[in-house]
Amino acid sequence: MAAEMDAAVLHGVKDLRLEKVPEPRGPAGPDDVLIAMRSVGLCGSDVHYWQEGRIGSFVVTQPMILGHECSGQVVEVGANVRDLKPGDRVAIEPGIPCRVCTYCTTGRYNLCVNMRFFATPPDDGALAQYVSHPAALSYKLPENVDYEEAAMLEPFSVGLYATRRAGVAPGKSVLILGAGPVGLLCLLAAQAAGAMRIYVADIKDDRLAVASRLGAAGTFRADDPEIGERLREETEDLGPEIVLECSGAPSAVRQSVDLARPGGTVVWIGMGPASFEFPTLTVGIKELDVKGMFRYRHTWPTAIELVSSGKVDVKPLVTHRFGLPQVLDAFELTRTAADGAIKVMVNLEG
Ligand SMILES: [Zn+2]
Ligand SMILES: [Zn+2]
Repeated sequence: MAAEMDAAVLHGVKDLRLEKVPEPRGPAGPDDVLIAMRSVGLCGSDVHYWQEGRIGSFVVTQPMILGHECSGQVVEVGANVRDLKPGDRVAIEPGIPCRVCTYCTTGRYNLCVNMRFFATPPDDGALAQYVSHPAALSYKLPENVDYEEAAMLEPFSVGLYATRRAGVAPGKSVLILGAGPVGLLCLLAAQAAGAMRIYVADIKDDRLAVASRLGAAGTFRADDPEIGERLREETEDLGPEIVLECSGAPSAVRQSVDLARPGGTVVWIGMGPASFEFPTLTVGIKELDVKGMFRYRHTWPTAIELVSSGKVDVKPLVTHRFGLPQVLDAFELTRTAADGAIKVMVNLEG
């Protein structure tokens, strides 16, 4: 009989179970490595699958292991793997592109038409003791980057990619709407990109306090009727040049174009309702560049360098830690965001 391992398996809406599943027999192929998982951060999308059983057209129809923000230790390498060896510590990029479609061959592999991605139906995720993954998407960690920081590189990659999409650069004024984990990581990424006037808006005062501690130049209540006026006072009477919308809330998506200065750039990162009423005319009249974005590409090497060099510190965002046996409690805390929870980490024993 095959060996078994523990995993957090989603069986259906609100039906998440810690249970035994077959352990991988080794790396899945010659270019893959078998990784003992060490840290897995929980994400809003994991909670969404758990609570709703779907995200848009991705529907959970068979049991699926959750988790995609992860790091671990290599235990076995496939025959072709040269750059990694057992014992190496790695951060894991959770999307496996096909490498041959038109998006892959032109470098936009996050749009791969054949993408397989951790914890996106039908593919299993990372909340298991062992996972096989391509060596090319397993990035060796420097000594001074720990497993939790390595797991944070996934959501940080969203922030890093957002700042690239938006063209954040020294001297730019930036407004971030939504101070959840992704919004706060956008703040750190925008700082690393050289922006100094970074403003953050949210409806939660405790999250705004965190943004201030992390170095935001100013914070605003998103429901403050004067927010536009107050932002213009800070930004040459024009409004911020760049708006990063991280909440997905319809009110915030509307604000993203209302608050941006004419000629500015707006990037939509948050995922909310599929459609709602929106001030379309504003986009034209203000000649805004409104951009969507999907996950990230080419971010891990830069993210590792930023964290390893100390230029970015993702550690303060990890507020709570659980072991795999307590994974259901970890999910509940992520869902409620009680007790000041920002990023909840599940740490597996080594
Ligand atoms: Zn995530
Ligand atoms: Zn592809």
